[in-house]
Amino acid sequence: MNNTKKLTMPIARPLSGTVGVSFEFFPPNTKKMEQSLWQSIDRLAPLSPDFISVTYGAGGSTRERTHDIVSQIQNRKGISAAAHLTCVAASKSEVNAVARNYWSEGVRHIVALRGDPIKDKTIYETEINGYTYAADLVAALKRIANFDITVAAYPEVHPEAQSAKADLDNLKRKIDAGASRAITQFYFEAETYLNFRDRAVAAGINVPIIPGILPVTNYKQVLKFAKICGAHVPGWMADLFAGLNDDPATRRLVAATVVAEHCRVLQSEGINKFHFYTLNQSDLVYAICHILGIRSANIDD
Ligand SMILES: Cc1cc2nc3c(=O)[nH]c(=O)nc-3n(C[C@H](O)[C@H](O)[C@H](O)COP(=O)(O)OP(=O)(O)OC[C@H]3O[C@@H](n4cnc5c(N)ncnc54)[C@H](O)[C@@H]3O)c2cc1C
Repeated sequence: MNNTKKLTMPIARPLSGTVGVSFEFFPPNTKKMEQSLWQSIDRLAPLSPDFISVTYGAGGSTRERTHDIVSQIQNRKGISAAAHLTCVAASKSEVNAVARNYWSEGVRHIVALRGDPIKDKTIYETEINGYTYAADLVAALKRIANFDITVAAYPEVHPEAQSAKADLDNLKRKIDAGASRAITQFYFEAETYLNFRDRAVAAGINVPIIPGILPVTNYKQVLKFAKICGAHVPGWMADLFAGLNDDPATRRLVAATVVAEHCRVLQSEGINKFHFYTLNQSDLVYAICHILGIRSANIDD
């Protein structure tokens, strides 16, 4: 593949071929945030995402809210919705009941996760009669019904993993148990994703590994997020946002440019699907999609 030619293409040139996007939202805590969530979904929906996913709050704290939003996206808005589901703080039968409920409502896509340790604990503890790992949950979901299952992947290795190889073996177990794709934890350098993708392919993982992309506008906040999940924040990012603390408008322009370029590099390496962590905001992701040539089917200008 002649990368030199492709990487020097202007970023403003839309991506070629069929590009698929998906968007991740989290259940809001307040009425005002809920309003903003639906405004964001309404803005991004015309871009015909492959799916919209809704997270499951830490410790299963948003079980009902996740369910309500997923159900509304799927049944009221007519968009394919993916419900995140974790093993945390629930018995197997409670988790199975949530899954059965989704199936009976026509929700077929689950993002199956272990979840993080509950508040004030640093080590994950299996709930009594609960699932220990995401691979166990994937297998159980497949026994319940023929769900379309997505799992998490870690280009920079999950913080609790014994080694990079052990983490990759775990991803393979999740795929072998029935998952049909993985979405990555966020990371910031395209090479980080591409090296991981190559290692996954070499390990016999042959389902799509969709890059999980977090557009950064708030550098300080990202440092916090990244520390928790072990993502490396490159030095160039600090330089890029230096002096912009009080200038959110410029930060957004910078963020859109960085992500559009990132997606272009990935596409030159054969990646055609992108998952955006929206943080429940639509404008930035909408702009990025626009730069990438992903347009609403309804626009006529
Ligand atoms: C795309 C994406 C979406 C997410 N959405 C949510 C969400 O909605 N809600 C939420 O609470 N969290 C979410 N998370 C965070 C996730 O729950 C945490 O990263 C969690 O710590 C691990 O979940 P997992 O599904 O990757 O776990 P697993 O795949 O079970 O792995 C957990 C750890 O255990 C290790 N491991 C697995 N099997 C074994 C074994 N047999 N022996 C020894 N070690 C083993 C793995 O290497 C890894 O270190 C998300 C993460 C991603 C990337």
